[in-house]
Amino acid sequence: MVTVYSNVHVLEMLEPEFFGTVLNHNITFIENGYKNGLVMIDTGLPGNIEIISNFLNKIKYSINDVSYIFITHYHPDHTGNVNAIKEISKAKVIASENEKEKLLNEGLFNINYDDVKSTINVNKEDFYKTTVRIDNIRRGKINADIYLKTEEKFDNIRVINSPGHTKGHISILYDNILIAGDAINNTNGIRPPFMFFCDDYAEAVKSFNKLINIKSKMIIPFHGEIIKN
Ligand SMILES: [Zn+2]
Ligand SMILES: [Zn+2]
Repeated sequence: MVTVYSNVHVLEMLEPEFFGTVLNHNITFIENGYKNGLVMIDTGLPGNIEIISNFLNKIKYSINDVSYIFITHYHPDHTGNVNAIKEISKAKVIASENEKEKLLNEGLFNINYDDVKSTINVNKEDFYKTTVRIDNIRRGKINADIYLKTEEKFDNIRVINSPGHTKGHISILYDNILIAGDAINNTNGIRPPFMFFCDDYAEAVKSFNKLINIKSKMIIPFHGEIIKN
């Protein structure tokens, strides 16, 4: 657990066997984030409700206290526990209008070995292990309560459109802390998301540059180390 700011906490979850390595997931919580409620940004892979619950207990909360969940985009490592949390806490789920269709469906990643191996040093066996696993993840259909058409503000939480990785990817700026989702990756240096995971890579690079140029004291990418500016 990391408390990056007095009321901002990051839960780091781990995804083993991600193209031959271990991938981390940074799930952010903001106390009194919106309408004095506990805000959660992204939720990790399905089936991790106990880890989330234990983490919240450590900061003197419970799942029941989650009031709002911002979803940066539809991928299952970000949306996996949304329905389970919603069932317990009746949290309101907020996402971009442009993610709606994908949130209501569960698609396949359709990744080619050649595209991955030119970016990541991975053997064929580890490649297939990961693609079969991620294509079999089921997180259920997700119905957001609020679909955003514009870059709205929720008290001090500012939504920033950062498309490219997915069509409706959003990032969050809260008190000079940029919660970037997958628009910025820091697993092996600060860079845009992997091309083979992007709906539109040129757009993703544009969004990456836009976010990097926002004045912030800290960037929390969903994958990789937290960046202190
Ligand atoms: Zn993603
Ligand atoms: Zn991700």
